[in-house]
Amino acid sequence: LDPVEFRRQGHMMVDFIADYYQNIDKYPVLSQVDPGYLRKRLPESAPDNPEPIETILQDVQEHIVPGLTHWQSPSFFAYFASNVSIAGFLGEMLSTGFNVVGFSWVASPAATELESIVMDWLGNLLRLPKSFLFSGNGGGVIHGSTCEAIVCTMAASRDQMLSRIGGDNIGKLVVYGSDQTHSALQKASQIVGINPKNFRAIEATRSTTFALSPESLKLAISSDIEAGLVPLFLCATVGTTATTAVDPLGPLCDVAKLHGMWVHVDAAYAGSACICPEFRHFIDGIEGVDSFSFNAHKWFFTGLDCCCLWVKNPGALTSSLSANPEFLRNKPTDSKQVVDYKDWQIALSRRFRAMKLWLVLRSYGVVNLRNFLRSHVKMAKLFEGLVAMDQRFEIVVPRNFSMVCFRVSPWVATSKGTPTTPTSNSFHQNGIENNVEKCTNEVNCKLLEAINASGHVFMTHAVVGGMYVIRCAVGVTLTEEKHIAMAWKVVQEHADVILKNHGD
Ligand code: PLP
Repeated sequence: LDPVEFRRQGHMMVDFIADYYQNIDKYPVLSQVDPGYLRKRLPESAPDNPEPIETILQDVQEHIVPGLTHWQSPSFFAYFASNVSIAGFLGEMLSTGFNVVGFSWVASPAATELESIVMDWLGNLLRLPKSFLFSGNGGGVIHGSTCEAIVCTMAASRDQMLSRIGGDNIGKLVVYGSDQTHSALQKASQIVGINPKNFRAIEATRSTTFALSPESLKLAISSDIEAGLVPLFLCATVGTTATTAVDPLGPLCDVAKLHGMWVHVDAAYAGSACICPEFRHFIDGIEGVDSFSFNAHKWFFTGLDCCCLWVKNPGALTSSLSANPEFLRNKPTDSKQVVDYKDWQIALSRRFRAMKLWLVLRSYGVVNLRNFLRSHVKMAKLFEGLVAMDQRFEIVVPRNFSMVCFRVSPWVATSKGTPTTPTSNSFHQNGIENNVEKCTNEVNCKLLEAINASGHVFMTHAVVGGMYVIRCAVGVTLTEEKHIAMAWKVVQEHADVILKNHGD
């Protein structure tokens, strides 16, 4: 790596990226290309001879940018954001610049120690009990994704349980979540060797919340125990993907702990908000769980990838995941005075992800970070208020954080958009006729397709309790109130057309 050439090309790259951000709201948010578009544009094979960075960047602009869905666009309201910031970006540059592989303490002491320190800082910000911090014999680690965090904690719980009941009983182990739990749980249980028949996606409460009821969990566990099975692992969610529902941690732990189960909390999106005192109550009951994770790369400005996982008992993780070949043997490890993060995760190699988290925490400070998060919640509230003022629409579930679930209401969808009675949240009316629901879903699906085809905004959907809902998730760093107002205008304009033509 020639430093002189690196400086020249690096400056060019920074300029390119800065220009991209400068112009980002000029691109259609959802990429408008057709499948296979890129193969038609690029050569069949890699070049034999070197090509200058200028030519490559030209091709990026011409061929790659059109095929991007612009996740950092201020009008990106889809899925959950994966936001980035100057500090996150620079932290990533530093970590790539050093490119150390800190699998063991000795392989790069600063990488390991900084990770332990920032995980304690962040744990304190979340007011996690001391038992999750290194000073309380727990600890935190940064994984690439929630999926990996669940695989690792579930493997730890499996091995703990099998050491009690015998390895032959693996087929009896049962994993629990709700039908709103992220599919990461099901994938993890497949990987960890749980019998697919023993995966329980318990129906969430169909009243406004879509949270997992402790009563339903209790019934499911009792029935499994009666059948001779062994409850193993519960994944509770704080901020479900479809509607940001919050499972009640304390009461769920009360049930799970009666049976010696491992409880993991997946707060992939909403965990960030819990550094604000006014949102901390969403993780009340955390003291009863065994592990807790959230994706800082969603709503904590680090950029991909940065899933923060805390465990109360690191020994359970390491006894499941450690492998110590001779070529990795070293004195600090033998002394047992150090953390070797390779034993807290799947892979041996690992990136220096703590760097960007450290930069984010230091560059913005806790006060600003809280205010950024609050500003996103405030903008979601603004969007919610705009929806509520239009009688054709309804808010489908109460908003907890920075995401609004809404739809054209059934009585409008089935009456060609001519409001005749004041709206009430139809979710509370028992037993909407099937054809009304089908028609309502079709209208909302058409509306979302039209909104996204416009290229002005990008939102996504969920289906909950048979209802097709549109999700507007605020969380991109560049989003301002004017983008919220514009997004709502786009929704309204397309609703005008669709409701007018609907059923013609
Ligand atoms: N859990 C929840 C609640 C999520 O919303 C998501 C992604 O949106 C995930 C897990 C998946 O996270 P990952 O891609 O880091 O595995």
